[in-house]
Amino acid sequence: MMREYRMLVGGAWVEAASGQRFETFNPYTGEAWATLPRGNADDADAAVQAAYGALKRGPWSKLTAAGRGALLRKLGDLMAENAEALARTEVRDNGKLYGEMGAQLRALPQFAYYYAGLADKIEGAVPPPDRDGFFTYTRREPVGVVVCIVPWNSPLALMASKVMPALAAGCTIVLKPSEFTSASALEFGELFEQAGFPPGVFNVVSGFGKEIGQPLVEHPRVAKIAFTGGEESGRRVNELAARHFKRVTLELGGKSPNIVFDDADIESAVNGAVAGIFAAAGQTCIAGSRLFLQDSIHDRFVERLVEVAGAAILGDPNSEETQIGPIATKPQYDKIIEYIAIAKGEGAFCALGGKASELGGQFIEPTIFTGVSPDMRIASEEVFGPILSVLRFRDEEEVVAMANDTTFGLAAGVWTQNIGRAFRMSASLEAGMVWINTYRAVGIGMPFGGMKHSGIGRENGIEGIEGYLETKSVWLNYDGETGNPFVMKIKG
Ligand code: NDP
Repeated sequence: MMREYRMLVGGAWVEAASGQRFETFNPYTGEAWATLPRGNADDADAAVQAAYGALKRGPWSKLTAAGRGALLRKLGDLMAENAEALARTEVRDNGKLYGEMGAQLRALPQFAYYYAGLADKIEGAVPPPDRDGFFTYTRREPVGVVVCIVPWNSPLALMASKVMPALAAGCTIVLKPSEFTSASALEFGELFEQAGFPPGVFNVVSGFGKEIGQPLVEHPRVAKIAFTGGEESGRRVNELAARHFKRVTLELGGKSPNIVFDDADIESAVNGAVAGIFAAAGQTCIAGSRLFLQDSIHDRFVERLVEVAGAAILGDPNSEETQIGPIATKPQYDKIIEYIAIAKGEGAFCALGGKASELGGQFIEPTIFTGVSPDMRIASEEVFGPILSVLRFRDEEEVVAMANDTTFGLAAGVWTQNIGRAFRMSASLEAGMVWINTYRAVGIGMPFGGMKHSGIGRENGIEGIEGYLETKSVWLNYDGETGNPFVMKIKG
């Protein structure tokens, strides 16, 4: 029995204006399991008008900061209560392992609690005026209607890192998940109703990027776009937003270096390299897809790496035993298979995998290429799959140059027991996040985001709320000269 979802617009669960629907698939079974409204520009307009109305009029616009915090706390409680159901939906829709999802969802309410606590600590300032008879102060105001656009690889986590700070700041929201994975976002919308958010504060629409995503980005009543996705879509969104001077936060792709020096704890580094690339079948922006090994440890490291990665269990994402699930979408599966052929054609040596799994469907074997040189496409382009490129290096200077020789700058890992080297490397690497003797550590208090083509702005932490605020300077003349450089003398 196919489930039928509706969109949440202005507090009502609605069909698309066109009446059209589209199917969403389970990547493990390959079967369609639900249908969703196929929204277009008319639906984008309705959702933005609802969000704009809630921003300017009605209970949300009059709510205190502490009141917003209280609603966010209720939302956090509901997320915790519904974590299991939300996780199952996401596993069904994008093939992520239930084990990974369970842990992620237990952490997700923290996004709501963290920003609930921050809501009433957003303070303006009282800078001293430079003349008598004036009182000057700044107000921090919500930027306005925010459009949140998220990809298919981690919908709930990526929307929480946008939605919670935006609400704490007092903004209203239209969320557009990926056409491949909209179900969990629509179920998430139900929790806003239960928590008591006024209608129109949080809206969720479904449909395709070009049909409803782009009209949302271009809508004149939208003040800010918070986007996570690929580089090309990010560029398009950035260009469209720039035409109307809209604010943007962009979290884009990566080709992150994971660097192992010969003084590292090798067993930890092997585990870090495996988790770095094969978690979520490599479909994460922070994947450590370029592994740099110092010459003297290269061969034995690769041997152990192949042994550990080769033992990974592929299978049903709902099973606790499974370590690598299917690829989330068919287009992504095709793209990864194509990159394997490209790497082989470029002369890289396939030390592990290098083909579709015998399980069939959308499974790809964990794949390791050695003998990769920096000029190969497999060393410079984001694959977004379980494909690791191994490169060799002589010394610190050489590896810093190689690691930074990319347009991306999202994350980097360094494995060393030398404390001086750890500090030097963390300063030299061009990446928004650097992990020393660990990989993929993330937490709500630590800013997340990239340099260079990996994005603009940061999510999470106190910095995460800044992108949803404007500063207004207020000059109040209570007893002084007007201070105007040009004063009209009014006669009579
Ligand atoms: P896309 O860029 O194709 O899509 C991302 C989102 O943007 C989707 O919701 C998509 O909708 C929407 N979209 C696409 N085109 C437009 C447009 N013209 N206007 C408005 N919205 C649009 O990325 P993928 O979904 O393929 O996700 C994978 C990418 O996301 C990878 O490159 C990865 O690196 C990046 N990513 C970055 C992260 C980070 O934090 N830095 C985290 C996770 C992923 P639809 O799907 O319906 O077309």
